[in-house]
Amino acid sequence: MNEIRPIPGSTAASPALVDPFGRSISYLRVSVTDRCDFRCVYCMSEHMTFLPKPDLLTLEELDRLCTAFVSRGVEKLRITGGEPLVRRDIMTLFRSLSRHLDSGTLKELTVTTNGSQLTRFARELASYGVKRINVSLDTLDPEKFKALTRWGDLSKVLAGIDAAQEAGIHIKINAVALKDDNEHEIASLMEWAHGRGMDLALIEVMPLGDVGTERVDQYLPLSLVRARLAEKYTLEDIDFRTGGPARYVSVQETGGKLGFITPLTHNFCEGCNRVRLTCTGTLYMCLGQEDAADLRGPMRASASNDLLYTAMDEAIARKPKGHDFVIDRRTKQPAVGRHMSLTGG
Ligand code: SAM
Ligand code: SF4
Repeated sequence: MNEIRPIPGSTAASPALVDPFGRSISYLRVSVTDRCDFRCVYCMSEHMTFLPKPDLLTLEELDRLCTAFVSRGVEKLRITGGEPLVRRDIMTLFRSLSRHLDSGTLKELTVTTNGSQLTRFARELASYGVKRINVSLDTLDPEKFKALTRWGDLSKVLAGIDAAQEAGIHIKINAVALKDDNEHEIASLMEWAHGRGMDLALIEVMPLGDVGTERVDQYLPLSLVRARLAEKYTLEDIDFRTGGPARYVSVQETGGKLGFITPLTHNFCEGCNRVRLTCTGTLYMCLGQEDAADLRGPMRASASNDLLYTAMDEAIARKPKGHDFVIDRRTKQPAVGRHMSLTGG
């Protein structure tokens, strides 16, 4: 395997990143590629144009940027995409970043994946200190899975989940709640996940990027899903938080936890502690706003991190209070033009 030689940058102690609303930025999500081996109907259009490969940050540069954020107070890193595990040599990045876990400056290194490559990588991920991962899975019906992901193979994902559990990795399943497509399957998906010791988080579809379908035809409010589940199960609100926007209930009958991520029916921005970095070094301070800052230029301009830190400070000073997602028949434009696969979920 190739080695990453960490690019040192300056090492002077630097203050934590705090936005104008007093929110400390302790969580960075990094999209390491915009490419994917699936084409989920709510995420991508069938024919996507991807970034030219030379535009991508190298793994060394991704390591340098992540390290800069860790030295400014980021304690949790989530590697995402596109599909992060299809980026060539991606394990070298995990291996390199694991040094921050070893030193104690980073509390958690994690990944969001569609699961298709987990049979290959689960053990290695575990060996680099990855203890919990999110696997996205919207249905257990092989035909429907094929239709929703266009290119995916359910049996590979299920084998990947087995491999990750065997490697001792704790899994949370993420499912996008989709009108008609999986709305009548959510209870069985939950029973399956809880039966295997995995929490389930449901996500409302967000209007990100043109996917060639009317969002309103996909959108299923989670308030409705919750009300339906409550007819059959005893749901109890609990305080459990993963540092993210999900609100959890415990389900008495299954003994598991169910999360609701509701960007549309309940705005979750007030406690937002995160920012998102793309594979070209663009920092998005909010998933639902267009404003972004280029970190690649300042990083490449100097071997020291001074310019980079200044750019990070300026970006965090512009972090908005929240997003304004709307899905209705009159709103034809997506809230933002970029796809979820660029910014990472
Ligand atoms: N490929 C990986 C995966 O699917 O887990 C990581 C990237 S994917 C963009 C991250 C998450 O975003 C997935 O759970 C996916 O279901 C979710 N997602 C994608 N497009 C979405 C949308 N328009 N609204 C809500 N969630 C979306
Ligand atoms: Fe790929 Fe994940 Fe988007 Fe599906 S949701 S197309 S798996 S990036």
